[in-house]
Amino acid sequence: MVMGTLREEAELAIVGGGPGGYVAAIRAADLGREVVLIDERTRLGGVCLLEGCIPSKALIHAAGLIDAAREAKAVGLEFAPPKLDLGVLRQFVHGVIATMAKGIDGLLQKRGVEVIHGRARFTGPRTLLVEGEHQSTIEFRNAIVATGSRPTRIPLAEELPVWTSTEALGIPEIPSRLIVVGGGYIGLELGQVYAALGSKVTIVEFAPRLLPGADPDLVEVVVRRAKQGLAGMLVESKVVGMERTAAGLAVTVEHEGQRQTLEAERVLIAVGRTPNTDAIGLETLGLSVDAQKRIPVTDECRTSAPHVFAIGDAVPGPMLAHKASREAKIAAEVLSQHKSAFDNRAIPAVVYTDPEIAWAGLTEREALERSVPIKVSRFPLRALGRAWTLGRTEGFVKMITAPDTSLLLGVGMVGPQASELIAEATLALEMGATLEDILVTIHPHPSMSEAILEAAEVAAGSPVHINPAKGR
Ligand code: NAD
Repeated sequence: MVMGTLREEAELAIVGGGPGGYVAAIRAADLGREVVLIDERTRLGGVCLLEGCIPSKALIHAAGLIDAAREAKAVGLEFAPPKLDLGVLRQFVHGVIATMAKGIDGLLQKRGVEVIHGRARFTGPRTLLVEGEHQSTIEFRNAIVATGSRPTRIPLAEELPVWTSTEALGIPEIPSRLIVVGGGYIGLELGQVYAALGSKVTIVEFAPRLLPGADPDLVEVVVRRAKQGLAGMLVESKVVGMERTAAGLAVTVEHEGQRQTLEAERVLIAVGRTPNTDAIGLETLGLSVDAQKRIPVTDECRTSAPHVFAIGDAVPGPMLAHKASREAKIAAEVLSQHKSAFDNRAIPAVVYTDPEIAWAGLTEREALERSVPIKVSRFPLRALGRAWTLGRTEGFVKMITAPDTSLLLGVGMVGPQASELIAEATLALEMGATLEDILVTIHPHPSMSEAILEAAEVAAGSPVHINPAKGR
């Protein structure tokens, strides 16, 4: 032990204060645990609040206002071209973050959770060393690893001043040209934001299509719209070189054996995220990680060391805040001797593009990969009154059902407010709903949610606002 190290005991030590860690702390404290929460940052909330979900959505809101003002011409409203005050936009984003972070502090304080700011590392099966303003050793009975993830780096850009989502969300400037490497969640969301704010954005994606994890028909609708705002979307394109230029960076891209060099002031690397499972002393707990650096866990979120739990981006599954928060509650409940397990049927996914993409449950892509027989029924938004009143009729809702029963297996959608609509679909999936359950549910009119009802009607063969399929 280093001289001057404080020693304390904790019934539960949680490492990481993001939407996994702080939610676990709240739930565990409410269940009577004495909790110490450790995070190396000065503010709680993790990547999601400080440099992820929340700031990106604040920027997407601003980008949406710019697009809406331009498109208002269609309803007879004309605005002057927007003038961007970057300082005010930053203040707005920082204000949102500060308010939410303060809220988390208050919630934890009220419950008597002790928060320690410092870098934590396991030093034995029941000890953690925390190096911060003070150095302390915590002896714990249970621990939860909720250390999250960080942007994955690419070797070609190792020494270069590229952006990750962290820098991009700080909006240090609006580059005149921006190259985004990676056409996944972040590439598309931030690519569209910077395009709306005035950058000429080119997305370079390695896979044969953008958002390779989503069903292609959903992505296609976004690509069609993005074509108007983005300077380029290159797929099946490999970055083979990157170097500094006087103006910024030059990126050499290879597509079908042909090379081209693109120049830009800034390059944003958005090729995925890497779990923060290294350098935290997992080996001292006897834990190892899988090929993707994730800690294997049971459905109770328990690691192979039974008194240690792990949740969120540090464990297998989609790297989504709401999945981390669900696991957080499970871990807190299980270690408090409550019966709880991750038995969810659906984890909703939302891509906050314009228009939004969302899905829950089985996707068409997964059904194809796993040879699961399905029936797919689509309801186009151009047949929906509320979509017309918003002036946004591109997109659709699709229902994926079992062909022999009317059991709902999955829902996918693309269109305005998909991020909100998917909650109803997720609840339906979680409750094991059949098409009939949705058909007898009265949906408010006029609303976007009617698209879910209408898609169920299409699936049941009784559509009202589109013509029935031939042969019925
Ligand atoms: P991602 O996995 O969504 O997308 C990364 C993309 O980069 C993939 O399409 C991949 O094919 C491509 N790629 C990988 N290596 C490449 C290379 N060398 N050159 C070109 N393309 C390459 O990852 P992300 O966009 O970095 O986001 C990370 C994670 O954060 C997401 O998987 C998601 O879990 C989470 N996230 C979620 C949201 C949301 O919920 N709305 C938003 C942002 C991020």
